[in-house]
Amino acid sequence: MSSDSIQKLADELCAVCQLFGARLWCLATSGNFSARIDTSRCLITQSGKDKSRLQRTDLMICDMDGNAIDETLSASAETLLHTYLYARDQDVGAVLHTHSVAATVASNLASRTLDVSGYEMQKAFRGIVTHEARLTIPVFDNAQDMSEIIKRIEAVAVHDAQSAPGFLIRGHGLYAFGRSIAEAQQHIEGLEFLLQCILAEDRI
Ligand SMILES: [Zn+2]
Repeated sequence: MSSDSIQKLADELCAVCQLFGARLWCLATSGNFSARIDTSRCLITQSGKDKSRLQRTDLMICDMDGNAIDETLSASAETLLHTYLYARDQDVGAVLHTHSVAATVASNLASRTLDVSGYEMQKAFRGIVTHEARLTIPVFDNAQDMSEIIKRIEAVAVHDAQSAPGFLIRGHGLYAFGRSIAEAQQHIEGLEFLLQCILAEDRI
């Protein structure tokens, strides 16, 4: 990817960070956002940056082991979860992670999965063509050691047809991925919307 294309990707990532920041989905510098550059690198938010004001200089390039290419920059601990998702599926082009109130509350009320059906918004997800489909959102227990969370994700089949393109981490937040930043944004927005509906209707 040319440096111009990387800058374009950076601008697109900044725009989605600012949008989600304005929606209060990543307060207090929480959340992290990334986009794949190629098979061995991704662009990701640096640790401790205000997402509502994110600039190009708040991003960094890291390898797929989660190491910053510029060693003077600090990667968030959750970078490893992003690079795991890129390595697991070459079709994943962007990974977005929010800490919204809805995702946090729903993840605490849910058991091991959240099953959703009956909402038109389910069609926000690739492959779902009807509100009658059943969508499963996996819920994983939180840990400060990302390798623990990755083990929990690997232990369940998150790739079956009913699985949402994302998952909840209990008491923590929401991850969603897509082939592009735009698709990952659509998936976060669809999931955030559904979680708010489920909570408002007291369905958990
Ligand atoms: Zn987080």
